[in-house]
Amino acid sequence: MTGMPASHWAATAVAAPETAPLKGPLQADVAVVGAGITGLSAAIHLAESGVRVVLLEAAEAGFGGSGRNNGQIIPTLSRLDPADLVAAYGSEKGEGLIAMIRDSAALVFSLVEKHGLRCDAVQKGWIQPAHRPGRMVAVGKRVAQWQARGADVRLLDAEAARAALGTDFWHGAMLAPTGGHVNPLSLVREMARAAIGLGVGLHTDTPVTGLERAGSAWRLTTPQGSVTAERVILATNAYTDDLWPGLRRSIVPVLNFQMVTKPLPPELRASILPADMACSDTQGDLHFFRWTADDRLVSGCTLISLQDADRRAQERVRDRIARVFPQAGRPAIERSWSGHLAMTADFRPHFHELAPGVVAAVGYNGRGMALGAAVGRELAKFGAGTDSKDLPLPFTPLRTLPLHALVTRFAPAYMAHLRRLDATG
Ligand SMILES: Cc1cc2nc3c(=O)[nH]c(=O)nc-3n(C[C@H](O)[C@H](O)[C@H](O)COP(=O)(O)OP(=O)(O)OC[C@H]3O[C@@H](n4cnc5c(N)ncnc54)[C@H](O)[C@@H]3O)c2cc1C
Repeated sequence: MTGMPASHWAATAVAAPETAPLKGPLQADVAVVGAGITGLSAAIHLAESGVRVVLLEAAEAGFGGSGRNNGQIIPTLSRLDPADLVAAYGSEKGEGLIAMIRDSAALVFSLVEKHGLRCDAVQKGWIQPAHRPGRMVAVGKRVAQWQARGADVRLLDAEAARAALGTDFWHGAMLAPTGGHVNPLSLVREMARAAIGLGVGLHTDTPVTGLERAGSAWRLTTPQGSVTAERVILATNAYTDDLWPGLRRSIVPVLNFQMVTKPLPPELRASILPADMACSDTQGDLHFFRWTADDRLVSGCTLISLQDADRRAQERVRDRIARVFPQAGRPAIERSWSGHLAMTADFRPHFHELAPGVVAAVGYNGRGMALGAAVGRELAKFGAGTDSKDLPLPFTPLRTLPLHALVTRFAPAYMAHLRRLDATG
């Protein structure tokens, strides 16, 4: 396992709590695999309900998507609207999932407050602007669907959006005031600290290499130890390996590039995203931006070809910033890094009960910070004994993607199709 990327978050995050690899055998009620937002949320909620929980992480807390992402806290899925979820899962299950997503950003900020998590948390809203006038129809429908479910979301016309965004590049927007942004690596490291404080046995540098039945329980094997637990939560997402047969091949990992500018002067800070919202627009080739606590813009992109990728990603984002926020010109990039998103063919997050007592959550399609916190809380209920059918998560059978290696190799080319749609839709 390689180390953490040299990201802006790694350079500025609070220190990780002291942890060590697992040595020797352990007993627990629940074993959680993967210390990202999902696994940590599960562990915290389990410990709070008095369950003995061990959390095993192959590298360090936040090594996966949770420590590398843009830090936007967003109470929606990336593609699908409430009506899509009802169509997929029926009214009861669909509405349960919708309510969970609706409240997910608020959950993150309430965890921040409750546990005193030092992560530069800014809850000043998430804004999704429309990149073409025609997209305002879809944005209006999205707002109406969420409002019908009691979500605090608003439709902004072009003028209100211009004021919130500091540009007339877009044509109106959806605003979700419960959203915002954080330093994501600080958030997960602080969640790790809180989890340890609640009694969670967190072991880093501890890849789980085997998972097998041990009577009515499960035994997880690691290089220097083992855990026997009644229930197991796999929270490995885009970083899923071959621990559970087929799970890795049910999702498509797609590399996404992130970068920060150097600190920008106060007049730019005051004119670009002046209300300090997190912003990601309606394009398939997502345009997304947010400020850091030290006046840098954080953005990124996905590339079709990975040749000379880092330099090309930086040039693309500098051009993009100049187009979207002309007042900034093409600002110098100070640091860039990358991480894998877990995509699914149906754009839905996937929840599986893989065997009695073993559950997994994967495939957040690039929008998993708020979702992961909420899913972790629900999986904790499973760990504490709730039947999976009584959770708002629609559990589906595990399906591996045919020709997975080929699909993974050519998935970035799908971006070309999305760019064509963005230019016309
Ligand atoms: C570049 C990028 C930008 C993004 N931007 C945003 C954003 O702004 N907002 C948003 O909501 N979402 C964003 N996302 C998506 C979001 O980061 C993820 O959906 C979310 O972090 C997933 O969290 P997780 O806890 O489920 O998994 P992860 O954070 O990926 O954690 C999985 C962990 O499992 C561990 N693991 C794997 N196998 C094993 C094993 N066998 N034994 C032990 N440990 C194991 C890994 O080491 C890893 O630490 C972004 C993702 C990327 C990559």
